[in-house]
Amino acid sequence: RAKQDGRGGYRFFEPSLDEAARRRRQIETDLRIAIRSGQLQLHFQPIVAAGDARIKGFEALLRWPHSERGFIPPVEFVPVAEETGLIVAIGEWVLHEACRVASRWPEDIRVAVNVSPIQFRAPGFRNVVLQALARSGLSPNRLEIEITESVFLDGQDHVQQMLHMLRAMGVRVALDDFGTGYSSLSYLRSFPFDKIKIDRSFVTNIADDPSAAAIVKAIVDLATALEMETTAEGVENDGQLAQLEQQGCSTLQGFLFGRPLTIDAATDLLRAARAAAA
Ligand code: C2E
Ligand code: MG
Ligand code: MG
Ligand code: MG
Repeated sequence: RAKQDGRGGYRFFEPSLDEAARRRRQIETDLRIAIRSGQLQLHFQPIVAAGDARIKGFEALLRWPHSERGFIPPVEFVPVAEETGLIVAIGEWVLHEACRVASRWPEDIRVAVNVSPIQFRAPGFRNVVLQALARSGLSPNRLEIEITESVFLDGQDHVQQMLHMLRAMGVRVALDDFGTGYSSLSYLRSFPFDKIKIDRSFVTNIADDPSAAAIVKAIVDLATALEMETTAEGVENDGQLAQLEQQGCSTLQGFLFGRPLTIDAATDLLRAARAAAA
C-alpha cells in the first residue's frame, strides 16, 4: 500500500521519507505488542575498575528480540518510544527489572540504568524509582541513573530538583555520553553527578588521534577535580586501555571486558570472578 501511495508527487522529492515513516509506524505498533506481551529484555554489560579489571557493576541495556526481524537495536526503537510516550512505561519496566536482577547479585555490585529525558521529567518518575527500590529491596546506593546532557534542554531548575532528590534518596547519578551533547561546563558546577561517562567516540580514537586523547585527559582531570568518578565507554583494545589507565580514568566499559550479557551469563560471570578471587 505504501509503495503505491509513494508513486504520488512527494515521493519524487523525498524517496526515503515514506519508507522511514512506514517503518516507524510499524515499530510503534509492534512495540505496543512487545510491551504488553513481555517481549522486552535487559542485557547487562560489565563495568570494571581500571588497574585490576574487577567488576564494579553492570549497565542495563534494552534488547528487543523481534519475531520476524531479529534484534531491533535501541537506537532504532528508543527514539520511537520517546516520540510516542511509550518510553515512560518501558522505562518503568526497565527500572523494576534492573533492580530485581541486581538485588540477587553481591552487595558490592551496582546496576546502571539509562533514563530518557521524557521519563526523567514525567510526573511519576520519583515514585517509580522508590517503588523499584522498595519492591526489589536493592540498596539505593547500588542503583545508578544514567542521564544525558539533553535533559538540560527542559530547563535546569526541574532537573536540578530531580537530581538532588535522587541524591537524597541515596541513588547515584551519572552523566552519560559526555562530550557529545549540548556540552556546557556550567552544569557540572551546579549538579552533583557521581560519575561522568566519557563518550565512545573519544575513546575509539584515543590511541591515534591526539585531540581525542587531549579531550579524554581534560574530562578525566575535570572529573577528578570535581570528585566525580569516570567511566570510559567503548573500550575495545589494549592500546585504548593503556592510554585510559595512564590518564587516570577510574572505570572502564567495552567489548574488551565484556559484551552486554543475558541475566544468566552476567550472573555466571560474577560467580566465576568471585571463585577466581577466592
Ligand atoms: P549508552 O547508554 O551510551 O550505552 C552504551 C552503548 O554502547 C550500548 O549500545 C553498548 O552495547 C555499546 N557498547 C558498549 N561497549 C562497546 C564497545 O566496546 N564497542 C561498541 N561499538 N559499542 C559498545 P546499545 O545497547 O545498542 O544501546 C544504545 C543506546 O540506547 C544506549 O547508549 C542508550 O542511550 C539507549 N538505551 C539502551 N537501553 C536503554 C534503556 O533501558 N532506556 C533508555 N532510555 N535508553 C536505553
Ligand atoms: Mg548509558
Ligand atoms: Mg553512554
Ligand atoms: Mg553512548
